[in-house]
Formats: sequence, C-alpha cells, structure tokens
Amino acid sequence: GEGERLQKVLAKAGVASRRAAEDMIAAGRIEVDGKIVVEQGLRIDPEHAVVRVDGVRVVVRDEQVYLALNKPKGWQSTMADDMGRPCVGDIVAERVMAGQRLFHVGRLDADTEGLLLLTNDGDLAHRLMHPSFEVSKTYMATVNGEVHRDIGKKLRAGVELDDGPAKVDKFQVIEVGQGKSLVKIVLHEGRKHIVRRLMDAVGHPVTALVRTHIGPVTLGDQRPGALRALGRDEIGKLY
Ligand code: URA
Repeated sequence: GEGERLQKVLAKAGVASRRAAEDMIAAGRIEVDGKIVVEQGLRIDPEHAVVRVDGVRVVVRDEQVYLALNKPKGWQSTMADDMGRPCVGDIVAERVMAGQRLFHVGRLDADTEGLLLLTNDGDLAHRLMHPSFEVSKTYMATVNGEVHRDIGKKLRAGVELDDGPAKVDKFQVIEVGQGKSLVKIVLHEGRKHIVRRLMDAVGHPVTALVRTHIGPVTLGDQRPGALRALGRDEIGKLY
C-alpha cells in the first residue's frame, strides 16, 4: 500500500521504539492531520502528514540527502549487488541511516570512474534520469588512436548507433600522442555505454573513462571512493 505504517514513521522520527509507538497509538496519544488515531497499522505519507504526540508536533519527514561520489573503477553503481561484487552501497553504508533509501541517479559502467549522484529525493532522481530533463554530463575519455579534429564534427553532427542516432554537444581533443588520445565529451544522453559506443563508432575505442560533471555538479579533486554532501547552491541548480 501507499505510505508507511504510523508506528514505523514514529520510530524513524525517534519518538519511541516501534513497540512503544504502538502503545502510544493505542493510548490515544498520537494525532495525524488533526485526528487521534487509535487503530494500528495506519499508513501515512511522512512527507506531508502532520503528526502530533500528546498534542506536540513532531517532524517525521525524511531528511533529504544529496551526495556526490567519485565511483572507483571496478565498482558497480548499484546499492546492492546480488553477485556480491563491490558496489556503491558498500561505500555509503556508513552515511545512511537505518531505513533510509538512497537512489543512485543513473549509472556508470563498472569500468568507468567518476561522478555519481546519490539521493533519497525520489523526485529529483526521477527528473535527472528523464531524457526530457536535459542535464549535461562531461566525460574525459582516453581512447586508442590519434584523434583527428574531424571526429568532433562527426560526433556533433550525430552518428548512427544500433539503437538509433546519437550526438555529442561538445567534443574537445585535450592531448594526442603515442597512439592514444585524451578527449573531453559533453552530452545529454543517458543510454547505456553511450560514450564507449560513440567512440567505437568513430574508430577510437575507449580505454579509460571518467565522468567529471553532471550539470552544475563537479567532481573537482574528490578521490575515488570519496563522498561529499552537495551544497545548497548545487542542489538548487539541479532543480
Ligand atoms: N558512457 C559510457 O560508455 N559509460 C559510462 O559509464 C557512462 C557513459
């Protein structure tokens, strides 16, 4: 059903243990949206419900958490991995309170390093992953071969992939030499392996990939595995 059971919401808000919260409900001490609740198991929406204990309002809304992680190469983007491989959930375990659900916003390939946003703000996670919400992402890719500047023209014009056309917004060659190149790519796409597939399509397979920006959020000097809370200004710009 919708919402969360009242005794669980009360326990999460630190009012009492779940068992003790049930007793408080039975004793008529809990009010939800202006009505005393005595039956057990009522589901409420903690984001919007007004809950009072002995007439005193308690804040039951989940605290919103917004984290930027530099996902290390070799780690899965998921919060749990059914094959027991190292995953982002292992890194954030200490930062998350019991019962708090954190979402990873999109994914990086296990082989890709870099910026991954984590939040319990389902609305934001959903919006950022929706193609119509045009958040740009920046990648630094080390590729095989010495990239000619014409490649940028091709990628900006668009190339055909097996699931349809794709293009980049910006393409910049940072360094070329010794049979490889470092390029910077900015795009709005979220399709799986998109950067690797784009570079394959123009004959320069990716050997190393790092995501450095998601919209207004920058990886900066965060080491792989490092987690930081987004600032208010960054959260504001994401919305
Ligand atoms: N594109 C890729 O190919 N891999 C990623 O992890 C992200 C974008």
